[in-house]
Amino acid sequence: MARKPSAGAKRLRGFLSGDPLRVARTVDRTCGIADLEVHKYMAAHVDALVAATRNIALPPDRRATLDHYIERLQRGHATPPRCPCQGYRGDPSQLGGTLRITGRVTHAGWSEMRVTCDACARSFQVTEDVGYHVPQYDWRAL
Ligand SMILES: [Zn+2]
Repeated sequence: MARKPSAGAKRLRGFLSGDPLRVARTVDRTCGIADLEVHKYMAAHVDALVAATRNIALPPDRRATLDHYIERLQRGHATPPRCPCQGYRGDPSQLGGTLRITGRVTHAGWSEMRVTCDACARSFQVTEDVGYHVPQYDWRAL
């Protein structure tokens, strides 16, 4: 029985597709996730990743995320042992400059933030509920 391709192999195929939309989607599904197996796989194939995506026209935010991700892979940071963003679930603006709030939608009494960790490139959707005496934060990895 043929083995199913791993999550890393599937994503690498997305990066190697040559299709800008698919590459952009693969950036979203890969760079910020917490699956270390995927990042190890990408680190092992980083040369192919660079060659296949270097000349792909991507939206500027995806290009920045991908370049940051590749740079981290090349520096051998595929497996951040204990990034500050792991386990921190409070106010994103309070974690000493590691977390960047890249988007915010404010509703009555609560808001949604898109947060990126500069140390490991993970992304999170954070909900802030100010309807309590102390704001409540709910974090979801993207
Ligand atoms: Zn992090």
